[in-house]
Amino acid sequence: MTDSASPVRVRFSPSPTGSLHVGGGRTALFNWLFAHGQAKREGRDGAFLLRIEDTDQKRFVPGATEGILDILAWFGLTWDEGPDRGGPYGPYVQSERTEIYREHAERLVAANRAYRCFCPPERLERVREAQRARGEAPGYDRHCRELAAAAVDANLAAGMPHAVRFKMPLDGETRFTDLIRGEIVYQNANLEDLILLKSDGYPTYHLANVVDDHLMAISHIMRGEEWIPTAPVHVRLYDAFGWAPPVFAHMPLILAPTGGKLSKRHGSTAMEEFRDQGYLPEALMNYLALLGWSYDATTEIFARDDLLAKFALERVSPSPGTFNYDKLRWFNQHYINHILRLDDLTARVVPFLADAGLVTAGAGDPAHPAFAPLRSAVALLKDRMTTLAEAPDLLSYFLRDELDPYDPALLIPKKMDLEETLDALVAAERALDDVDVSDEAATEARLRALAEELGLKAGQLFMPIRVAVTGRTQSPGLFETMRVIGQERCRARLAVAIDLLRAHGDETLTADD
Ligand code: GLU
Repeated sequence: MTDSASPVRVRFSPSPTGSLHVGGGRTALFNWLFAHGQAKREGRDGAFLLRIEDTDQKRFVPGATEGILDILAWFGLTWDEGPDRGGPYGPYVQSERTEIYREHAERLVAANRAYRCFCPPERLERVREAQRARGEAPGYDRHCRELAAAAVDANLAAGMPHAVRFKMPLDGETRFTDLIRGEIVYQNANLEDLILLKSDGYPTYHLANVVDDHLMAISHIMRGEEWIPTAPVHVRLYDAFGWAPPVFAHMPLILAPTGGKLSKRHGSTAMEEFRDQGYLPEALMNYLALLGWSYDATTEIFARDDLLAKFALERVSPSPGTFNYDKLRWFNQHYINHILRLDDLTARVVPFLADAGLVTAGAGDPAHPAFAPLRSAVALLKDRMTTLAEAPDLLSYFLRDELDPYDPALLIPKKMDLEETLDALVAAERALDDVDVSDEAATEARLRALAEELGLKAGQLFMPIRVAVTGRTQSPGLFETMRVIGQERCRARLAVAIDLLRAHGDETLTADD
């Protein structure tokens, strides 16, 4: 990419203000793919860091950091340095680094690249109001920028609270090259004297982010497009410190299907919502990788290793991607049906089934007695499963001894009446004396022969049997379904269906009277 042998060090640096948005998940993914995939392919060292930017105490949500670490691990990303694993540039949580930021702010003050601002909040508010009244954009009027040293000293001696502000150049331009968008130019006259250190001693995002990217030897800043306007400020800060800035690469926005930035009102947006709704991390990863990156015009399926082998930052597009919920569902169903190994899929539906009380949590272990029958049921239904969360509904009749109540009228096929259906079911129940459902071919042959004996079309016999053994009018193939349900349960369910139908007949008669 840039110069060939230099190591790649990238970071994902979320603020723990809530759960991780899919846009953040995609940014983390691209950073990881760049460091662990592309860099290594190019023979460079590649490290992916996780840093928690928690200096904005007002927006901090307790538990959010743990949630972000959990969901990134679920997603399948691994970081080389981070809050939970440490590393040579730690700590990786900004609230544990406040002394470092304070010291750096002081350095800029000493170099006359930053200044102390003693303006109380009420004054700042008055200035903003006046600006608004004049139809100007609100911003700091640089009141303290040229305070005489004696005045500053007197204020400090009086213990006046103060912030540290950056001395932005008043004219000229700030340019930087974005790897995805090319050269970006800002007029300095439009940039503000931003606060670096607040009066409570905490740094702002700008100071902490720049200081950490430098001290943590970050080579590339890969983050969302919404951060572009902060980049010129950061470029100026690097300059003030006398540091070379990292390479910038801003990822395209993710739009909602109806346009506009993807947000909660369009549907789920948090990574953990997708996890809880039964999306596979592999499918979500594949889908998110294609929101902004492509390999060629046609290939869509990329397992994690394919992404590592193929991802290239040069192929990330500057134009926004549109989040398509249906497409994500398509990917999930494809992974469930065609990519995941059956044992793996079986283990992954278990937490959802256990929550629904259909199996115990241990059933996902291949050594558990419930595993093999569950696996057989999953094999029959995986082509109808779009999310893992659908498993309880799809599989319940394989897992419960007794069926959920169903309408006995469903047992009666079109063009047949209750009596004929009853006769057919009684005969079918008896036929199971001669044949064991574990032998699909024999069961099919026996029931086809029975249909003929009864003068019915095969479907007319199979339909009531299907409803009797599953409680539903639709299921996978009848004989494979019966095999997985098992001989005893099939017989018991036929007996129940016969009783239900008799009772239904009596009721109908009474109702007709
Ligand atoms: N802490 C910022 C966020 O919440 C990170 C921005 C950046 O990557 O520089 O997204």
